[in-house]
Parts: sequence; C-alpha cells; structure tokens
Amino acid sequence: MELYDQTIHQLQELLRTRQVSAVELTENVLARIERVEPRINAFITPCRDLALGQAEAADRQLAKGEGGPLCGIPLSIKDVLCTQGVRTTCGSKILESFIPPYDATVIRRLNEQGAVMVGKVSMDEFAMGSTTETCAFGVPKNPWNPDYICGGSSGGSAASVAAGECLASLGSDTGGSVRQPASHCGVVGLKPTYGRVSRFGLLAFASSLDQVGTLTKDVRDAALLLGAIAGHDPRDSTSAKEPVPGFDALLAGNIKGLRLGIPKEYFGEGLEPEVRRAVEEGIDRLRKLGAETVAVSLPHTKYGIAAYYIIAPAEASSNLARYDGVKYGFRNLEADSLVEMYKTSRAQGFGPEVKRRIIIGTYALSSGYYDAYYKKASQVRTLIIRDYQEAFAQCDALVSPVTPSPAWPLGAKTDDPLSVYLSDALTVCTNLAGLPALSVPCGFSATGLPIGLQLQGPHFSEAALLNIAYTLEQDLGLCQQRPGLSS
Ligand code: GLN
Repeated sequence: MELYDQTIHQLQELLRTRQVSAVELTENVLARIERVEPRINAFITPCRDLALGQAEAADRQLAKGEGGPLCGIPLSIKDVLCTQGVRTTCGSKILESFIPPYDATVIRRLNEQGAVMVGKVSMDEFAMGSTTETCAFGVPKNPWNPDYICGGSSGGSAASVAAGECLASLGSDTGGSVRQPASHCGVVGLKPTYGRVSRFGLLAFASSLDQVGTLTKDVRDAALLLGAIAGHDPRDSTSAKEPVPGFDALLAGNIKGLRLGIPKEYFGEGLEPEVRRAVEEGIDRLRKLGAETVAVSLPHTKYGIAAYYIIAPAEASSNLARYDGVKYGFRNLEADSLVEMYKTSRAQGFGPEVKRRIIIGTYALSSGYYDAYYKKASQVRTLIIRDYQEAFAQCDALVSPVTPSPAWPLGAKTDDPLSVYLSDALTVCTNLAGLPALSVPCGFSATGLPIGLQLQGPHFSEAALLNIAYTLEQDLGLCQQRPGLSS
C-alpha cells in the first residue's frame, strides 16, 4: 500500500521506528497531489516548500524521540483557519490576498506537535453552503465520481482526505459543514462540542454555532486529531475548561448495553430510500454488536432549518461587517469617495450567496422585525435544546442519517438555494444545541456514492461517540475502501 493511502495511526509507528521518514511520507503525498489534483481541485493554496521544510524539522524531532503524536503527518487545512504567513482566503475574493500575521490556536497546536501542512483547501465562501460551489477559487470534485459535488462547506477537506492528498484535514462545522462533506466523500467527520476546541483564528461565520472539526480516513485518526487540537484556550473565552481525555485510548470497540436513540423525525419525508436503507442496516449492525435501541422523538427538529437560517445569517451579517476594504483584503481602488469605496469593495468582493446571507441577516435583526425573526428563532433554539435534553434522558446517543440524499451532480442545485438549505435539515439542530456529532461511512448508493451514518451525543460525549463509530467501523470494514481514482 502506498504511504498516502495509509492512516495516521499506521504511519505513526513507521515514523517513530524510522522505517519511514517524514520527508519521504510528505514527498509521497505531494506526488499524489500532483497526480490527482487536476481531477479533484481541492486546494486553493498548495504549500509544497513549507511542507517539505516542516517535514525536515519533523525528522529532526523524531530522530531525538521528540514531537507529538502527529509529528511528520501531512495534513490539509480548510482555508477558514488563519495560518501565519500563508494566505487565508475563506474561499472569498474579498480575502484573496489576506496573509494572517498569526496562527489559529489549532494550527499552533499542530505545529507544536510537528505536523506538516501540505496546503489550504477549498470551501464555500465564508463557509456558507453545502456543495463548495460558492468558492471563489474553483470547485472541488467528489473523488468517488468527479461529476458530483463533494459536499460543503468543508468540501476541499473531505475531497483531499478521500483522494489521498493528505492524511487528514481540519474543517469547520456551523450547520453540518464537517459531517455532510464527510458523508458524501466516505470519510469520518467529527464536529466536537461547542467549546471543546478553540475558535481563536477561525474566521467567524456564526459565532454561537461555529466549531472546528476533523476529517479523517477512520475513527482512530479522528480520535488522535481531536486529542491534538482540543482543550481550553485563554484566547477563546467560549472554549471550555473541560479536561481532554485520551480519545484513542478510549476506543474500546465494545458497545454492549449502550442505549441508542432512533429519532423518528430524522427518518421522515424527504429521506431518500437508499439512505434510509444504508442507515437502517447500520442500526441493525449496532444492535447485533450489543447496543439496545429506543425510539425517541425530537419534535422541534422540523423548525431547525427555519431557526438556523435566521440565526446563522444574523450572526454572519454582524461578523462580516469587518470586511470593508479598509482593514483587510480586497479594496476597490477605482472608487472616488470613502462611502463609494466601502460599498463597491463589498459589492465586488463578496459572492452572491454571502450577499444573500448578509441581506437576510440584516433584515432579521432590523428594528421592527427583530421580535418576529431573531427573537422567535432564539426561542425555537431553546425548544430544540430541550428536545435533546429529554432524548438524552432516555439514551446515550442518537443514530440517524447525516443528509437526506447522497451527493448530487455538480451544478444541479446552483439556481435553487432553498433546496440546498433544506438538505441541511438533519445537521443544523446539533449546532443550535452545541452538541458533538460525527459522520461515519455506513454504505453506498446504487451509483457508488458513499453514505454516512450520524451519531449525536450529549455535551462532551465525544469519547462515547467515537467508540460507537469505531465499533461499527470495525464491523463494516468500509474504511479500507478508497475511491477508484487511478493513481
Ligand atoms: N450548509 C450550511 C450553511 O450553508 C452549513 C454551513 C457550515 O456548517 N459552515 O450555512
């Protein structure tokens, strides 16, 4: 097996025992990028020289028996995380030339471990979208079938992991953006509890929902990567002081006696039969592996999309006010007055989806409409949180689909934003309640596209979710499957 096709936990051993050097591994991944990237298009800014320099440094650390668990491991990073000295675009023309003067805390933690960054990957502009088609720098393709979307907004992360262009990736999840592309690309996507991972240096979309997450080839790698980035950060006042367990050591591979809730609202109208079948087969396997299942109800799930698509744009309209052509990135130099400069820099710098969100969000917050929209959505959010509290009184975790359908053909919904919004119906409530959740591969569609199974749990239950996913993954054996990209 080629090095790029292996997992972090397999390579750790080879690196530590010096059977493989970090430079050798990085060169193997860079060569893979060169071969498949013309067909995948996952990268906005490849970082070849940086990666080789970091790999040499990692080899020096490894030779002395130093470095963290990710020392020498080539990763891709969603272009929403600030990387000192490396352009960070957020998928937007308005940040086309923005070079951050500092690293996000998660990047700093990876660097301290000796990890290698092979590049910054594609995303929907400002993480707004579910297909990565709103990226200003080209659209990545699904490695399982390049005519299909890879999902979004962390589409470049999911595609680069599935295509073997990195060992793993960091993404962000505001309403499903780690889990949904993971499901579409057949990789494991973990969205941690709000507060589990620092958001310092994560470009803000909707601050009460945003969370950094991991995209990996298997569950053990998710546990390793989460362990590397989790924990309190004095620079993010919303990061939690909760202790960080050794997630990989807690992968017992045993779920006997666990109670898994099956929320009926997640299996309703609009769910495609082949997704239902794959997820139900996954649930059967979980039962055979010793878990008990209980039917539960989350009655306010049906209001999730309406509440999310008020709250997220409202927060975005405020967060994105900072992009004014003065402080960061793109400025229209042709404008002949200050007001004209503000207006035209924003008009030319933002794409249509971002503008749509800013307009919706500003409207929902404006005086006279605030009570009807933002306040009402916040009340619904509380009801959604209570639904989960009641469900978790009856079970340890919830099992459901991640998305109502497998990936769809590129371009199929670009003129229909509402139907794209509706495809987030099964992921947004998790963020409204700040809960951890993950997507683990559970099957394929008739056309050979991956389908994921979603697990959601109470706050800070990542270790339990990872253990359930690990047990299922070991039984299904799907994580060994790779897309048939001829090398
Ligand atoms: N698809 C959702 C949206 O467009 C979620 C995006 C995300 O999680 N960043 O808002």
